[in-house]
Amino acid sequence: MLCVRCPICGKELRIETIYDLPTFPFCSRRCRIIDTGRWLGGEYRIPGAPDELEHSSFDEAEREKHSYEG
Ligand SMILES: [Zn+2]
Repeated sequence: MLCVRCPICGKELRIETIYDLPTFPFCSRRCRIIDTGRWLGGEYRIPGAPDELEHSSFDEAEREKHSYEG
């Protein structure tokens, strides 16, 4: 029995051998992609995460600007 800790999210994983974990040393493909992204992009980014937060705050500011005109 092995106990490994995902270097990305810190989740503890109990496996018999590393062959039980195709994404070793990461807990999941998601964490492996995040790690790859760090290497390639040099920044912390979760692939597939929506950028909508930025957009919605921008829309909010736009709407406020327009409300002053009315
Ligand atoms: Zn993980």
